[in-house]
Amino acid sequence: MLKRKDVVKADSLFRIGGNAATGPWGPALLALALLLIPMAAATAQESGGRGQQMEFIRDAEIEHIIRGYAQPIFHAAGVDPDAVDIILVQEDVINAFVAGGQNMFIYTGLLQECDNPEQLVGVMAHETGHIAGGHLIRGRDAMDNASAEALLATLLGVGAAIASHQPGAAATVITGGTGMAENNLLAFSRTQEGSADAAGMRFLDSAHITAQGFHDFLQKLAGQELLPANRQVAYTRTHPLTQDRIDAVADHLQASPWKTAMLGPAANEQFQRLKAKLIGFIHPALALRRYAPGDPSIIARYARAIALYRQGNLTEALPQLDALIAQEPKNPFFYELKGQVLMENQRVAESLAPYRRSVELLPDSGLLRGALAQALLEAGDPRLIDEALRQLQFATRQERNSPFLWRLVATGWGRKSNDGMVAYALAEEAVAKGDRAMARSESERAERMLPAGSPGWLRAQDIRAIVDAH
Ligand SMILES: [Zn+2]
Repeated sequence: MLKRKDVVKADSLFRIGGNAATGPWGPALLALALLLIPMAAATAQESGGRGQQMEFIRDAEIEHIIRGYAQPIFHAAGVDPDAVDIILVQEDVINAFVAGGQNMFIYTGLLQECDNPEQLVGVMAHETGHIAGGHLIRGRDAMDNASAEALLATLLGVGAAIASHQPGAAATVITGGTGMAENNLLAFSRTQEGSADAAGMRFLDSAHITAQGFHDFLQKLAGQELLPANRQVAYTRTHPLTQDRIDAVADHLQASPWKTAMLGPAANEQFQRLKAKLIGFIHPALALRRYAPGDPSIIARYARAIALYRQGNLTEALPQLDALIAQEPKNPFFYELKGQVLMENQRVAESLAPYRRSVELLPDSGLLRGALAQALLEAGDPRLIDEALRQLQFATRQERNSPFLWRLVATGWGRKSNDGMVAYALAEEAVAKGDRAMARSESERAERMLPAGSPGWLRAQDIRAIVDAH
């Protein structure tokens, strides 16, 4: 995966600004296990004049874990898991909300605040209650409707852009996403909160998961409501917290046959690794303080290996990573991390083996295949291009709207001097970015150059038809 440094300014909804995905292919754009997508800062009037930037994380392991927890909840709620986008916002803020129908935003600060997976699952069950109830996040009373609408549209824009898991979605947004949710501007109503709680607890019961985590999480946040406003937890503002709510959850818990049904040690281990990974990536120095060098647990060693690599200390990071791999030779994410560390440090040829292994171990992950494909292309060996294109064919099926992956496809075909397919891939990239003009010109170019009736030619026709229809 990759990190985008571009901060794109967009001055209207759904308009693409800048060229986030067309920048130079330098090492700065190379893979990071965490994909950080800075969102548009822009004017940010709504967020109190502060420049705001929303960053999204894509990470195969973290998404795998969170989706695994969410699965039984979605199932209990009768919600199609594939229709819900879980969007990770990289910010040290305790918040989570749903917007734009089925987009569930979870902040990394909330993940860090949860002590165990039961707390996170409780929060997700509540959010799923909002989804199942069709609740719309709304502006606070103090705001005029027009602003509330605009803010909601902004969130919808974010959601729509990310809906299909795309790095370059960055470009589609818009003002002040983060500040809105933090600054009290958007909230669910108290009635909606009660109903989302009730639904969430029902889902937990049918999934045979205790609501204890949800109760503990609310209780913990309640204790923080006495803090000064600027330090208050954003979550309690998007989801107004009352003693009544906590009492209702406590009552339900007492009566529930699943009161003590925890997710189990394996789920807990996963969750602690998820937290370790986030801290290692986002706050390496803190990770090195929090996880002691002598701690033999995989959690601690994982956090430290990531933190050391993030600090550029490969001498220590790589042996630690190798030791982790030796201990868990079937863990795809350890190999992925090793591939990433090597690739980012100009050891691309060496990164191929671990990347390939990660894909073997978790073949369903479009993110892992995309990372491998990038390494194959970076290796600069013409014999590897076909393999890269094969991986990308799979990856783009799953991550259809990732401009970054389509750009890799274009790069691969470019190396094979197939200008028609380059044009086709650039047209797909433009679609993913919402760049209508480019989608039209590249699809027309592809149609001219590709053999009539070939798959690329047909798809280019489809793209032009879609563009014309809008
Ligand atoms: Zn809520």
